[in-house]
Amino acid sequence: MRSMTMAPRNWKNSAWGAVVGSGRRESPIAARVTIAADGRHSTIAFGLGLARHPARPRRWAIGAYFANFLPGSVGRLTVGEMHVRRGYYIGVAPVPDSLTNVCLVKPSFAGDVALGDPAAALKSALAVDPLLRDRAAGARLIGSPIVLGPLAVDVRDAAIDGLLLAGDAAGFIDPMTGDGLRFATCGGELAAGAALTALARGWSGVHAGLMAERRRAFGGKWRFNRAIRALVASPRAVNVAAVGARMAPSVVHAVVARAGDCSAAAP
Ligand SMILES: Cc1cc2nc3c(=O)[nH]c(=O)nc-3n(C[C@H](O)[C@H](O)[C@H](O)COP(=O)(O)OP(=O)(O)OC[C@H]3O[C@@H](n4cnc5c(N)ncnc54)[C@H](O)[C@@H]3O)c2cc1C
Repeated sequence: MRSMTMAPRNWKNSAWGAVVGSGRRESPIAARVTIAADGRHSTIAFGLGLARHPARPRRWAIGAYFANFLPGSVGRLTVGEMHVRRGYYIGVAPVPDSLTNVCLVKPSFAGDVALGDPAAALKSALAVDPLLRDRAAGARLIGSPIVLGPLAVDVRDAAIDGLLLAGDAAGFIDPMTGDGLRFATCGGELAAGAALTALARGWSGVHAGLMAERRRAFGGKWRFNRAIRALVASPRAVNVAAVGARMAPSVVHAVVARAGDCSAAAP
């Protein structure tokens, strides 16, 4: 998909499909409704000026697969782990074929040398980590790490008739609470419902209705995610949380359960 085609209808912009192409060939596809579900770097949302990377937070992710990454104290490596450190965090998740996905999410800035050598940045973060260094000592990096960022994407209310946004194209949430896929699938269902309404009754109120549905479905978790993100960004808050976790582990279990949308988290 190359771009979104806009046509003026009265004094307002409307979308009437998309232009798709590969190589030099392009063809317009006309549609009464287009749902942009083309991810965090949405060609449509950025192309139409609906999305932007906010000045803050500026976080980047470095992710890679490892073989021989040892399981932690929980036992077999079957659960996802989130290791929150001062100013950054490291996610560790088992994946098929006995591999482990490791993802470092850290603040970054123009000219950050860590992003120039992501493998070294990942390995050195693991090497200094008191809980991960022994487990990672004999681990072997499989392939090259992937670097993504800036992670945050803000999307303003996109009230363009003919166009709906879904998934990361409708706004990206920090991966820390692992909600992206649920938001993408549920947000896709909500957008599909809005599309049916628009086809049946026209566009009046459709975008406001979809936004209200999204707030109802995701608002609580958006606020929770923002609070956790703010905590991770503050070294002082991380220190306080670490002390609190030792004194009242049940609070940490409750936070983990909330992050995972579970009724209870394993201690
Ligand atoms: C580091 C990191 C860790 C994450 N961890 C988790 C996690 O543990 N749990 C979780 O639930 N979520 C996680 N997420 C978030 C999750 O990956 C996303 O929220 C989810 O994939 C969004 O789905 P989507 O369909 O909106 O976008 P995507 O999965 O990005 O899919 C978009 C699709 O559109 C296609 N596309 C893009 N542009 C074009 C174009 N111009 N033409 C044609 N096709 C196009 C792409 O090829 C892709 O197939 C993580 C994200 C990151 C960055």
